[in-house]
Amino acid sequence: MKQTKYIFLTGGVVSSLGKGIASASLGLLLKSRGLKVTIQKFDPYINVDPGTMSPLQHGEVFVTDDGYEADLDLGHYERFLDENMSKDNNTTSGQVYFEVIQKERKGNYLGATVQVIPHITDEIKRRIRQIDEKSKNKYDVIITEIGGTVGDIESLPFLEAMRQFMLEVGKSNSICIHLTLVPYISAAGELKTKPTQHSVKTLLEIGIQPDILLCRSEKILTNELRKKIALFCNVEAEAVMQSIDAKSIYEVPLNLHKEKFDNVVLKKLNLSAGNPQLNKWNRIVNKIKSPRKEINIAICGKYNVVPDAYKSITESFVHAGAYNNVSVKLNWIDSELLEKNSTNIDDIFSEISGLLVCPGFGDRGIEGKITAIKYARENKIPFFGICLGLQCAVIEFARNVCGLKNANSKEFKDNVRFNVIDLMEYQKSIKVKGGSMRLGSYPCIILKKSLAYKCYKKEFINERHRHRYEVNNNYRKILSDNGMIFSGLSPDGSLIEMIELPEDIHPFFIATQFHPEFKSRLIKPHPIFREFVKSAVEHSNKKC
Ligand code: GLN
Repeated sequence: MKQTKYIFLTGGVVSSLGKGIASASLGLLLKSRGLKVTIQKFDPYINVDPGTMSPLQHGEVFVTDDGYEADLDLGHYERFLDENMSKDNNTTSGQVYFEVIQKERKGNYLGATVQVIPHITDEIKRRIRQIDEKSKNKYDVIITEIGGTVGDIESLPFLEAMRQFMLEVGKSNSICIHLTLVPYISAAGELKTKPTQHSVKTLLEIGIQPDILLCRSEKILTNELRKKIALFCNVEAEAVMQSIDAKSIYEVPLNLHKEKFDNVVLKKLNLSAGNPQLNKWNRIVNKIKSPRKEINIAICGKYNVVPDAYKSITESFVHAGAYNNVSVKLNWIDSELLEKNSTNIDDIFSEISGLLVCPGFGDRGIEGKITAIKYARENKIPFFGICLGLQCAVIEFARNVCGLKNANSKEFKDNVRFNVIDLMEYQKSIKVKGGSMRLGSYPCIILKKSLAYKCYKKEFINERHRHRYEVNNNYRKILSDNGMIFSGLSPDGSLIEMIELPEDIHPFFIATQFHPEFKSRLIKPHPIFREFVKSAVEHSNKKC
């Protein structure tokens, strides 16, 4: 059995330094050298999964093929590594405690006092090993990103488990990379190393000596400064790396490679690997950095103030934009604004070449979204609706084309005469909220000669879901008699997965009950995003 190598990534000084991007970038660099790599994330919060957390607080809930509602960093791992993650790639404190408490109730620890050390830490270590076991020792390297900032009470059990684990597998089989901040103080005109020194000191207090320091900074770290950090933090000078602010997150692995980050990691792990193959990645990053033109896409969602709430959607546009040699400027539209009579919708849409209506829950801003869709349909502006976006498109069509007055979704109104969107039958008996939606990957069959088929170029697809409501089959006939096409169905035909309008009525009008944004990757833009952006480019060319 080959020896798996373990890399732990911790964060210091402040949150939001980009541990997820750093882990994903390292994963990509090692994979591009021919190694088999995966990444797992440890999250210190007590929630069993992030599924019930507001995207306003914690950003998007990412969904994996196996139906796990995950931290958004798993999305970065997939987009960089081009590999599917699963529930095993994310562990929360809640899961760890849940498991240990269940075992205690079953009597597994009979006689023992159940404690953070060793019971909680053992469960954390089991979850690191489990990746190796379940994959039958497939991976050369497992990267573990520890959420939170060193010094927080919450992440202590994870750090203690990591310390024990590193001791068990031994030096050169495991390393700690500490991501830290070297702030620039403009009044002094200097980069400051003290916060990094303090953060390393905190790590040392819990028995962890970092092997590599990855220093985020907005200015270049001089050699002198690197040497100073190395000396005070007890790290080799060549292992003090800089991660300078980048224009695009996809540039980060290329910048880190220039810093010889992957070389140093391999050396510390005593691992040999081929030269990195980064040509394709490089080419795409250049396209992101020098687009031929910019197009404006209106995006209607509920959490417009926090773009992280729709991370996978915004990234999908970066991928599709690069493919089409354009940069996509997202114009976040407050759908509640569209509900006011005083709003001039022509003004809002004057520069817009496409409309995307986001997934979401609850009735806030729904009427505004329906107004936006009506405008896009009537003015032949390319339209793409995702999940709730599909449901709003069906409501709009039912009301304004089929004449079903006040048609609505049961999610928004209890007493609806024309309930064109209703709770899925099996959801009616479900009362618990956590992990109880229709989640994860399901097959879908695409109608030949449809816009959907033009995008995918195949009949059988699998896409990820996260919803409770669906198009009410009682209204299929009236919707299709009035021109709506159901271009994607579940294999037994019982669930509508995609709708569209015929191309002679509208140049690009498509919506999906599933979430295509979860499967878009930099090197493989999602086909619907790709074609939607293409159609938006054509629309903007017509306008000029
Ligand atoms: N709220 C809708 C449902 O549960 C849509 C969910 C979504 O957009 N992800 O069906």
